[in-house]
Amino acid sequence: MTDDTTDKSAAKPCPICGKPAIARYRPFCSSRCADVDLHRWLSGGYSIPGSTDEDEDGDEVPLVPRTPDER
Ligand SMILES: [Zn+2]
Repeated sequence: MTDDTTDKSAAKPCPICGKPAIARYRPFCSSRCADVDLHRWLSGGYSIPGSTDEDEDGDEVPLVPRTPDER
């Protein structure tokens, strides 16, 4: 009945200012906020752990003993 409350496109709020994001600038509300986010990235606002140590988890590679190479 009241399709005003129906949020078909549940757009997440802009992570920068909190306004509803626009599909065109997802996940931001505007190109400006996207630019702000980009600046944060460049300035090191986000620290991405680039250690591969965390990637390999649980799967330990056992040291394979050298096969006796007899001639
Ligand atoms: Zn915004």
